[in-house]
Amino acid sequence: MALLIPFARRQSDGRLVDASSVPNGKRCDCTCPECGAALIAKHGTEKVSHFAHANTVTCTGAYETSLHETAKQVIAELGFVWLPPSSMGPKIKFSFARAEIEKKANTLRPDVTIYTVGGRPLALEVMVTHEVDPKKIDQLRRDGLSCVEFDCSELPRDLTYEALRSLFATDAIPGHWAFNFKADALEAKLAAEEQRRVTREAILQEAADRRKRDQDQKDLTAWLQSPHARARELEIQGDVASGFVVGCPIRRRGRLEKFKGVAFAALDCPKCVYFAGRNDGTADRQFIKCIGHFPKLALQDHTTIRNFGGDPGRLLENKICTPEIDAPSQNPF
Ligand code: SF4
Ligand SMILES: [Zn+2]
Repeated sequence: MALLIPFARRQSDGRLVDASSVPNGKRCDCTCPECGAALIAKHGTEKVSHFAHANTVTCTGAYETSLHETAKQVIAELGFVWLPPSSMGPKIKFSFARAEIEKKANTLRPDVTIYTVGGRPLALEVMVTHEVDPKKIDQLRRDGLSCVEFDCSELPRDLTYEALRSLFATDAIPGHWAFNFKADALEAKLAAEEQRRVTREAILQEAADRRKRDQDQKDLTAWLQSPHARARELEIQGDVASGFVVGCPIRRRGRLEKFKGVAFAALDCPKCVYFAGRNDGTADRQFIKCIGHFPKLALQDHTTIRNFGGDPGRLLENKICTPEIDAPSQNPF
């Protein structure tokens, strides 16, 4: 069943009116805003006053068009409009200097165009069935024309003119910015600033990474040139506590010939200035690290060892040699 027609165009003055404000029946002198056919007013007894086509016609969009057209008229005559909040500010009641219905503003023809005292236009769209589509928003952006869309799709079907006016006047019609030129410009500015910030941070980060890489390279070079990197690993024969290493470069170690080149890993090495730590390898393969082969490079980093006062147990317990611990400079790896 077709919906009742709440508003019609009065022929005498072209205004959109509700049925209660014109004579009953054919004397209403009104036509359908959708198809232009004559209407009759039906003053309500059981139903609310409304219009109906005088003759049987196929007119399916009369309700939507009558509401759409009447809303435009209401807005234009109201003299103010509630503008929804945006990034430019909160909701405001905005009084306008003049309004035009369905007149061209730039390349578009908004439902209503209102103008500030200074002449800046604002497009208003009334949504009953079709909302502002992306193509139109693109055009609004190109034109620099801000636009608010009011949603009339959920209004009650038995509206009077006064009721519709009151809804617009009291901010009871939901509205949103289909496009806001200033907010859009602000967002574009903020996005550009954010992009600049991200780029700047990326450049700084890259420079920091490069500095770190350079420093790492320097540290690595220093490490490779250090006695620790050149230390020889001498495997401990036997267990850590009583085992020995073969290949001790101290010539006079051991009075007996059979002890030449042999050092006890837990007794001799930890007290030796050429001791560069102990390898914490697997339980059955332990090494000491010896820099006795490079004695000129050896001494500067061994105050720590000396400070243990020749206590090999304590030294072994604390001085587990890894490149990280023994590195003379910062960790290069
Ligand atoms: S650390 Fe000293 S005692 Fe041990 S093997 Fe090297 S030179 Fe010999
Ligand atoms: Zn019609």
